[in-house]
Amino acid sequence: MPERDRGTSRAVNANGAMSGSPPVLEIEDLTTSLVVEGVLRPIVREMSLTIHAGEVVALVGESGSGKSITARSIIGLLPPGARSTGRIGVLGTDVLSLSRRELRRVRSHQIGMIFQDPRAHIDPLWPIEDYVGEGLRIHKGLNKSQARERSLALLSSLGITDEQRVLASFPGQLSGGMLQRVMIAGALSCEPRLLIADEATTALDVTVQSDILAILHDLQLSHGLSILFITHDLTLASVICDRVIVMYAGRPMAVQSAQDLFEAPAHPYAAALVAARPRVDRKMERLQVVPGRPASALEVTAGCPFRQRCTYAISECAEMKPSLFPLGPDVLTECIRAADLREQMREGVAAHHD
Ligand code: SF4
Repeated sequence: MPERDRGTSRAVNANGAMSGSPPVLEIEDLTTSLVVEGVLRPIVREMSLTIHAGEVVALVGESGSGKSITARSIIGLLPPGARSTGRIGVLGTDVLSLSRRELRRVRSHQIGMIFQDPRAHIDPLWPIEDYVGEGLRIHKGLNKSQARERSLALLSSLGITDEQRVLASFPGQLSGGMLQRVMIAGALSCEPRLLIADEATTALDVTVQSDILAILHDLQLSHGLSILFITHDLTLASVICDRVIVMYAGRPMAVQSAQDLFEAPAHPYAAALVAARPRVDRKMERLQVVPGRPASALEVTAGCPFRQRCTYAISECAEMKPSLFPLGPDVLTECIRAADLREQMREGVAAHHD
């Protein structure tokens, strides 16, 4: 994540590790607008993030926070009439300046994407062999038998032991967990440098979820794959992510390492999300919730977008101009009171953990 001096566009690597390597993904000041009731309205505003080779970065937030629109802006999969401004660099190429044809090429060679519901994204009438092998034939120039061999190897590398049967199956013959692995195989077939996982484990049961997370973690370590991991689940994000970007109402609210987020959240919204996590190790009288309802980017007016739900809001919060600024080494926040509140937020989450 680029760490910015407040009010400037100078970027430095906030996470410090791997600062010498070129970024696989570099988003700068992205604003994406969609047509809503005939008018172009911003849904994601001033989003910036950087992912280097082998890094896993999470976008976390409630529904409507802009996580998926950010991801879809990267691959140009937005509804008709949508418009993105800013810069989205994929291995140095600004994809926002590409023609549709050029973007398709970058998408097929450099980026893989997996979604929440594989059944909604894999044609039920196509055998798995055609689904996994399609990219290999079209983009890698393999013939049918070469694509089949490669597909079998891919499925096997993802822990599928009966890969011959799976390859010969139709989607309706496979479980949700198996189909998610098939989707990962399809996304990896052209050996992308970046994998975007959009709520890819949300609909799975806990054991399959942990299998898929283990696969993603292995891919990160063995292939140096960079992953943008989109989830509403902070605990999941903490399992495999180097850094977490907390989004709210289309904006980044805080950026910090997963461990730091759980120990000393950099923003009241991040603190509220951490405190709202259910505890599985003890019975809780009541689940804590983030008060109020999530605001969409369409409802945001001047000032801090979180202020209607924030227990720490003061009058200045209605007038501030939201912008990420450094709170400490490798930590960014948009909250103007974050420095004063950090100890309080630290104690709050510590009480939740105890
Ligand atoms: Fe709360 Fe104000 Fe900080 Fe926004 S800027 S999170 S309203 S204290």
